[in-house]
Amino acid sequence: MEVKTHTALHVVKGAVVKVLGAKWTASVYTNGNHGRLTVKFNRKPTNEEINEIERLANEKVKENVPIKVYELPRGEAERRFGDEMYDLFPIPPEVKTLRVVVIDGWNINACNKEHTKTTGEIGEIKIRKVRFRKSKELLEISFDVL
Ligand SMILES: [Zn+2]
Repeated sequence: MEVKTHTALHVVKGAVVKVLGAKWTASVYTNGNHGRLTVKFNRKPTNEEINEIERLANEKVKENVPIKVYELPRGEAERRFGDEMYDLFPIPPEVKTLRVVVIDGWNINACNKEHTKTTGEIGEIKIRKVRFRKSKELLEISFDVL
């Protein structure tokens, strides 16, 4: 279950970037079928935007596209994927080899966790709660994988 929930973070993040343009992930959390993605953002999204994020994420699940994983030297990864693969929490400089997870046209992220082979294996994603923390400009999106 954790593998599906973790992979769902990548799919939800892709939808968040498309709908809100929020590029930077501040933290992620999973527990069983429950996941939470926290991104840097400067306002509370509308209900329509949240619905659109959920709709696009589930559309990507239905498309059942491959989750590609590339393992390559850090410098090469940076030349190929740039900053887009990074999150707000830095990868320590002593890490010289990166695993980069790619969902084509959707999400690129340096991530060494386990993932499903395709988006279709995740199952339905249901957004349960959205919380905007104004003082920190952080948006928390909590979801379940059904
Ligand atoms: Zn991952």
